[in-house]
Amino acid sequence: MQVAIDGPASAGKSTVAKIIAHNLGYIYIDTGAMYRACTLIAHDNNVDYGDEKAILNLIDHSTIDFKQEDGEQKVYVNGKDVSIDIRTPEITENVSQVSALRSIREKMVELQREMAGKHDVIMDGRDIGTTVLPDAEVKIFLIASVASRAKRRFLDFQEKGIHQDLKDIEHDIEVRDYKDSHREISPLKKADDAIELDTTNLTIDEVVAKITEIIQKKQKN
Ligand code: C5P
Repeated sequence: MQVAIDGPASAGKSTVAKIIAHNLGYIYIDTGAMYRACTLIAHDNNVDYGDEKAILNLIDHSTIDFKQEDGEQKVYVNGKDVSIDIRTPEITENVSQVSALRSIREKMVELQREMAGKHDVIMDGRDIGTTVLPDAEVKIFLIASVASRAKRRFLDFQEKGIHQDLKDIEHDIEVRDYKDSHREISPLKKADDAIELDTTNLTIDEVVAKITEIIQKKQKN
């Protein structure tokens, strides 16, 4: 079973995907974390975020791994846990530039398909239903208003002790969505056969229940 969850920034994709994967015993793959890891690799090597050749070369000589630890998915680059480093404002602001590079996307899509081939998976991102897993049995496109997405991220940051102005978060979300939706290769787009779910007025439990119901219906067919 392949479940694709796509949608704009901070729509709650990873939160619900993690819970569903845990409940159903699926593997969860956070593809955004992979593009963030590529961006971090460029950053740590002082390479320009637009320098496709140099970034690809660095990635070819690096390892990017996901590990499940204490119920959390950790990301490792060259053996170092970078789960926190890939979520800093510097990386978040620049990841859309790196993820728009053709050869980087090709490389990541190849890895994502390889990972998905081995298990029942739930994978979240921007192009899973359209490009990475076009034959996924279940495709969900999660949306929510910018204001509610920014508020969720703001509360999430507060919990982690990070202070960022709500207006700045809202602006960052809008800029990233615009870039992700307007890039040339595999832009953020609802697949024709995806089910759209607006989570603006739904709790996490309600979204989890709706998606689980869709998956279970498919399993019976
Ligand atoms: O999901 P997350 O917000 O962590 O993704 C970070 C960035 O990675 C997105 O803004 C987008 O530029 C890129 N991305 C992508 N394709 C995916 C997943 C993420 O281009 N499948």
